[in-house]
Amino acid sequence: MSARKKTLLKVIVLGDLGVGKTSLMQQFVNKKFSHQYKATIGADFLTKDLTIDNKTVSLQIWDTAGQERFQSLGVAFYRGADCCVLCYDVTNEKSLNNLSSWKDEFLVQSNVSNPQDFPFIIIGNKIDVDESKKIPSLQKKLLNITNNQLGGLNYPLFETSAKDSINVETAFENVARMALQQEELNGASRNDMNDDYHDAINIHLENDNSGCAC
Ligand code: GDP
Ligand code: MG
Repeated sequence: MSARKKTLLKVIVLGDLGVGKTSLMQQFVNKKFSHQYKATIGADFLTKDLTIDNKTVSLQIWDTAGQERFQSLGVAFYRGADCCVLCYDVTNEKSLNNLSSWKDEFLVQSNVSNPQDFPFIIIGNKIDVDESKKIPSLQKKLLNITNNQLGGLNYPLFETSAKDSINVETAFENVARMALQQEELNGASRNDMNDDYHDAINIHLENDNSGCAC
């Protein structure tokens, strides 16, 4: 049996207050739903192990603990992210319109090396609600936002219900798969960095030897 360490994947869940971020995470990790989630739950992240393409990964999903209303989550929150989940509520048009500013906020704060192809995923939550409460012409508006505000990028979209556990697992499995690809890419660039670092040290040592007076 392989004794290799599990790959740790960091996932950031963003979106307006009340769209159901905490509920989605609780449903995915603990299979629980509550109508009364407080804005703050105390924990910074929840972790769940899962197997993706024969690899065991540990998905570390970061929650905002209520600070999202100020959009001030701090650099440490975003650092080292492998995937970003942008959430809206299918009954709240403002939350849909705000997706692009969450994406921008993420890119500014995280300073990822590949903003053009960083893996974002969109989740539209609360699909269990009555049709009459949903945003009118939702699909058209969504298409407009992905085309015009999210840069025409074809981010995967999942419509979920954290309440009735619809599509939550599928969405997060895709998150894990995309995060794993990003992690492998990051790992490769970290190795490149190490090579540069070793080259720099070697040069430094050679110089030191030539000029050593001791
Ligand atoms: P957050 O602020 O984005 O973390 O949102 P919460 O997870 O705290 O959820 C806000 C409110 O929406 C709570 O009252 C939840 O019970 C409710 N909620 C969350 N997900 C769903 C859902 O899938 N369906 C319905 N009907 N309500 C939900
Ligand atoms: Mg929350």
